[in-house]
Amino acid sequence: MDTSLTPVLEEVLRRNPGEQEFHQAVREVFDSLGPVLAKHPQYADAGVLERICEPERQIIFRVPWVDDAGRVQINRGFRVEYNSALGPYKGGLRFHPSVYLGIVKFLGFEQIFKNALTGMPIGGGKGGSDFDPRGRSDAEVMRFCQSFMTELYRHIGEHTDVPAGDIGVGGREIGYLFGQYKRITNRYESGVLTGKAVTWGGSLVRTEATGYGTVLFTEQMLATRGMSLDGLRVSVSGAGNVATYAIAKAQHLGARAVTFSDSSGYVVDDAGVDLELLRDVKEVQRGRAADYVARRPSARLVTDGSVWDVPVDVALPCATQNELTEADARTLLRNGVVAVAEGANMPATPDAAATLHRGGVLFGPGKAANAGGVATSALEMQQNASRDLWSFEHTEDRLAEIMVGIHDRCAQTAEEYGMPGNYVVGANIAGFLRVADAMLALGVV
Ligand code: GLU
Repeated sequence: MDTSLTPVLEEVLRRNPGEQEFHQAVREVFDSLGPVLAKHPQYADAGVLERICEPERQIIFRVPWVDDAGRVQINRGFRVEYNSALGPYKGGLRFHPSVYLGIVKFLGFEQIFKNALTGMPIGGGKGGSDFDPRGRSDAEVMRFCQSFMTELYRHIGEHTDVPAGDIGVGGREIGYLFGQYKRITNRYESGVLTGKAVTWGGSLVRTEATGYGTVLFTEQMLATRGMSLDGLRVSVSGAGNVATYAIAKAQHLGARAVTFSDSSGYVVDDAGVDLELLRDVKEVQRGRAADYVARRPSARLVTDGSVWDVPVDVALPCATQNELTEADARTLLRNGVVAVAEGANMPATPDAAATLHRGGVLFGPGKAANAGGVATSALEMQQNASRDLWSFEHTEDRLAEIMVGIHDRCAQTAEEYGMPGNYVVGANIAGFLRVADAMLALGVV
């Protein structure tokens, strides 16, 4: 890291003790910024680095609710409104027992640069709760969402802060959250949340967008080496929206996706994952990996080791942060992996990313590779603002255009700063420059 950045990082660590994932995310961006600061001293002079690390606003609140047995439950809710230089705060809500301020800040920080990279007018934010939806009834999830929104509603708005989904928050939760927002405010303010169902204000392609976008980004990376996905073997981790639609798009482009995973282990299906079955098990039945295997003779469930042990040409980590370690990276390299793209947020550890890059693997960081989700959220906001609903084809075309734009911006920026083929540096610098220029223009605020 450039020595001028060390004191800024040290201050971030001192002010935010114990928030390991947040520290990791800041360090990762700072590692790329040395050449930018050398070339453009105006950012350091205006305190842009210090300002960009400090969220504009952080909200922490109690979420009380009553479970089906009549017991009172208390969770903690968060919304970190990180940076609004480019537009309203934008980013998802994560409901998972691992959520604490450090996770929300890491995600919010990443979101600033990701959203900037899309080229759309959206700032960065993130939120969530340590609520665990697993094993909870529909009625419990509804009561939780209503309680969560009873506090959150006063902080958000279509021009202020626009939450969406993330791990544990999908169409069902967005529906309950919107219902409560509408009830409290007496406003049908569609643009206050994205990831809505298409039947009441959502956008076509939003559900598929993150996974589709990750694969489109991978396709662009492969094209720089004259390759395509056709005929390649792909491993995917996770079994949520991102994983499901990464598998769908990879298969559509002629690849064979042979894995997915959940907290019970990973599934290897050498015949290629049966998408309809996966969707039925996960989306309809809300079942587990074992339920897929029970209905699919070509598949087996593996409960030890790592999904990255499976030999593939392309690996798409679509589960959660730090799920792909350096040891996994070495295994992938040994098995001849060509490209790795992050469908999840920060799924590769910094060491893993560095090892893959050094090994000549095309590595697409989440900020760039999974930006299709939030970009399509911005398209949903556009449709809401004009009270319109675009066709699937038109929306998907826009998404594809945006992903090509992100890819090219990263590639050109990496080249411009003397590190051709380094998408991590390209994404960090290109994202940073767009936000930093807006911050300079807006003065010290
Ligand atoms: N949670 C997603 C992300 O990590 C989507 C955010 C959004 O659509 O606002 O980018």
